[in-house]
Amino acid sequence: MADDIFADLSWGFETRAIRAGQPHDVSSGAVVQPISLATTFVQEEVGVNRGYLYSRVANPTRAALQDCLASLEGADYGLAFASGMAAEDTFLRTLAPGDHIVLGNDAYGGTFRLVANVLSRVGITWSAFDLSAVDSLREELPPATKVIWAESPTNPSLAVVDIAALANIAHDLGAKLVVDNTFATPYLQQPLRLGADVVVHSTTKYCGGHSDVVGGFLATNDGELAQELEFLQKAVGAVPSPFDNFLIMRGLKTLPVRMDRHCRNAALVAEFLAGQDLVVEVFYPGLREHRGHEIAVRQMKDFGGMVSFRVAGGAGAAMRLAASTEVFVLAESLGAVESLIEHPGAMTHAAAAGSPLEVADDLLRLSVGLESIEDLIGDLKQAIARLPDA
Ligand code: PLP
Repeated sequence: MADDIFADLSWGFETRAIRAGQPHDVSSGAVVQPISLATTFVQEEVGVNRGYLYSRVANPTRAALQDCLASLEGADYGLAFASGMAAEDTFLRTLAPGDHIVLGNDAYGGTFRLVANVLSRVGITWSAFDLSAVDSLREELPPATKVIWAESPTNPSLAVVDIAALANIAHDLGAKLVVDNTFATPYLQQPLRLGADVVVHSTTKYCGGHSDVVGGFLATNDGELAQELEFLQKAVGAVPSPFDNFLIMRGLKTLPVRMDRHCRNAALVAEFLAGQDLVVEVFYPGLREHRGHEIAVRQMKDFGGMVSFRVAGGAGAAMRLAASTEVFVLAESLGAVESLIEHPGAMTHAAAAGSPLEVADDLLRLSVGLESIEDLIGDLKQAIARLPDA
């Protein structure tokens, strides 16, 4: 391989998205990072090798993705995993029995399930708070708190948390702040620069961007933690395949242009929904009346591609609307080129039913894609027109 000069932060974000971690292969001149399928690597003598021994431990395609996405997050260290949940689980294995995790009160349902139903089995405790209410938080957090786990914007209600303020609170407590940056992506927000200790991603979403690969990522500037995470990555082995790494790297190359269009389409969709009588409330950080708008202006480059809204008529009307769209596909997940609609209470966040993280049953979540804006708004218009009181 030639030298990897493009990981350097002096290069622009767009340049690094295309080039960081991916120097041309000197043996073939291939412009695109090869998919390195080898599971094992030759050793010149015992203990003398070129940095690769066995593919679970390190793999050239994975190394390229790790360097690229770490650079985009402004991180010294990045680790790729087989899914967002695998990344979360690997980080949370740094905790010990008796440690306490503070979750946002509308965290992703899968994160809640992992913490409340899996880690609780080994004596790790948790509680949930409104992390956007930073003023009251400092006094309320349990002293055993070792991790504050924040999303911003949150999934599914798109609340915005003040990452810098939350980092101060976490550090005063001796805890680490983890930010799930899946919704914002490093193009719109870089939590490590705002004081977070760890960034987690479901790269399944905007990083991959095409609904065709599942992956996860951890990024940090803490060398000691990175060593422990590397150990866990090897010891637990929840690593992505070389082909998955390749697909996520390919997605990252277009992340900036895709995000610009996601943001533009989402802003127009949010504005449209805000003007509809049968829509009770719209959640989009770009709307001036959004509770976290000022913080979002401060810590994000733009407001993202996700929009949530409450439908007049309750759960029945929301479910009917979700089943009536044509351009918006009724499906879980988010962050890809095609627009999706879902009912979080019955779908992505069903695991949180009956808990403090339960989602309102009249809420729908949109992942606004890259289709023509006229088609997206036209689709929502016809679906709303089919509601009983329209
Ligand atoms: N974090 C957020 C915000 C998510 O929305 C998801 C999945 O929807 C995850 C983490 C988990 O990622 P994965 O599905 O790649 O395991």
